[in-house]
Amino acid sequence: MAKRIQFSAIGGPEVLQYVSFQPPAPAAGEVQVENRAIGINYIDTYMRSGLYPTASLPSGLGTEAAGIVSKIGSAVTGIKVGDRVVYAQSALGAYSEIHNVPQEKIALLPDAISFEQAAASFLKGLTVYYLLRLTHTVKAGETFLFHAAAGGVGLIACQWAKALGAKLIGTVGSDEKAERAKQAGAWATINYQKEDIVARVKELTAGEKVGLVYDSVGKDTFERSLDSLKPRGLLVSFGNASGPVEGVNLGILTQKGSLYVTRPSLNAYITTREELKTASDELFSMIASGAIKVDVSEAQKFPLSEARRAHETLESRSTQGSSLLIPGK
Ligand code: NDP
Repeated sequence: MAKRIQFSAIGGPEVLQYVSFQPPAPAAGEVQVENRAIGINYIDTYMRSGLYPTASLPSGLGTEAAGIVSKIGSAVTGIKVGDRVVYAQSALGAYSEIHNVPQEKIALLPDAISFEQAAASFLKGLTVYYLLRLTHTVKAGETFLFHAAAGGVGLIACQWAKALGAKLIGTVGSDEKAERAKQAGAWATINYQKEDIVARVKELTAGEKVGLVYDSVGKDTFERSLDSLKPRGLLVSFGNASGPVEGVNLGILTQKGSLYVTRPSLNAYITTREELKTASDELFSMIASGAIKVDVSEAQKFPLSEARRAHETLESRSTQGSSLLIPGK
């Protein structure tokens, strides 16, 4: 028997239960991983709350972890028992001591990267990779706006933007978070609890505004994101931390200057084993070179059994950077 988190009803963090289960044997193309560190992602709260539908209940939760391969299915190639690995985009159930994962979602972990570093950066780093390198190719000298810049995805984006020589203007919910985003490489910050986003963007760009906005906050910032764009600018709306953007009249894009909007997801950008290898090689080299650091504070490493408290903390907006669940802690 092993331990995992499951939920039998959608709802708040209180629906998360710590239970025993019998891990099934891996199917032919699956790898069984003994998780050592589990990544907590905001999307996990959308699954739990019902914002994103779950196929059936009771359900496991979580899609990202790092650990050691304990078993392999008969059709698995290139991965063996004992390998150190990291995965993201698995079926729900990574909040667990043991999880079976399709081989195409797994990357071998370089020795220089710890399980905790990997689980704190894999899904979020792959996300920053596709946002900054594929959805739009950010260039040296380019100025753009990135919301929630002191969050898990946000702090990696600040560092990646700096490495590219770009000027990331990061929005944050407190002065403390502004400081953290600056240290990570943000060129400028806007505390959107007390500053006017659009006015500050204009001020920082000598009245021009920006050609590119990344918005994972959603409902609360959508209009201000559009208003921060210059004509023909691009809004990349990639999350709903404050709730989903709904009921948009496309005419608003004409009125605000022939704007572009895209709503991308990691699953649509990284689907094959080759795509995952290209993306993870680039991410790992950024981490190995020190360009991207992913230190998780002790306060944001929660025992697996305390997933409820971890979700309460993440949703209270009090975290900075990534948070982890640690099995057996
Ligand atoms: P974060 O660590 O960034 O946590 C979310 C942050 O959003 C909070 O810390 C908070 O920062 C900000 N926020 C703004 N408004 C609210 C609100 N009303 N309630 C809660 N938080 C709010 O999470 P992640 O790094 O895990 O994910 C960041 C975003 O990226 C999420 O929206 C997620 O869904 C999205 N995402 C999208 C992917 C895709 O492919 N489309 C893939 C991965 C992540 P502050 O206090 O500074 O405002």
